[in-house]
Amino acid sequence: MQKPRLLVVEDEPAFARLIHLALSRAGFDVHTVTNGEDALDLAAEIHPDAVILDLGLPGADGLSVLDELREWSDLPVVVVSGATTAFEIRRGLDRGADDYLTKPFAPDELAARVRAVLRRRHHSRGRRHRIGSWVVDLDRRTLTPADPNVNPVAHAIGRGGWRLLEKLLDNPGRILYRDELLDAAFGPSYRGDSGFLQEQVRRLRRALDIPPWAEGPIRTIHGVGYAYDEAGEIPAGRPRRPRTDADGAAAGDSVGARDQLVRRTV
Ligand code: CA
Repeated sequence: MQKPRLLVVEDEPAFARLIHLALSRAGFDVHTVTNGEDALDLAAEIHPDAVILDLGLPGADGLSVLDELREWSDLPVVVVSGATTAFEIRRGLDRGADDYLTKPFAPDELAARVRAVLRRRHHSRGRRHRIGSWVVDLDRRTLTPADPNVNPVAHAIGRGGWRLLEKLLDNPGRILYRDELLDAAFGPSYRGDSGFLQEQVRRLRRALDIPPWAEGPIRTIHGVGYAYDEAGEIPAGRPRRPRTDADGAAAGDSVGARDQLVRRTV
């Protein structure tokens, strides 16, 4: 699984090194800059999962960096401040920081805060996903190249395609029935048309630059449906369709990957 990417903005070299080391050890992919201008440039370039922002910076101070960042991004920001005044902290939170820490702090504490912020964000607004060479933003319905140095060819996804992608990505790790996906993306009149759904999924994979011979994170669960399986948790194979009392009862319902496994093994 891909490491969460962090952008650390800290001008004191010794402190920056300490944070870098602690967060790297905690399993993050850490990128460090020492001023606000570089922070904004790099944030736009690498699409970090979260930012750790020192408020006392040379040049543009941390709060103005936060303001500028918030104009185009809602990525999680943990503010680090040398000032112990409640006023400073409140200003940071008012301007869109997700959490704060006051110096000095234990590096483990920072790692724990970052994890908590990422978890919260994932549950509430985890609507940006990196898939292959793209960053998929479900709220804006945009595909942005994950690496600004390459310019992948963008394919149109279409309204139904976006709804399909949304249904899948909003339910990570869950196996979704074909009819459930068709309902959500194209409406009930498409129920039962698994060939149409197959074609739509093929188009989605192509739009996301997943090669034709691969499934990518959009997994085909044969005989059942599809799942967004970023972590590769759903085992390959051909699970049987779970047995239901009435055949129609399965439609509109969904099963978690784990339930599916249990049912398969009984
Ligand atoms: Ca500083």
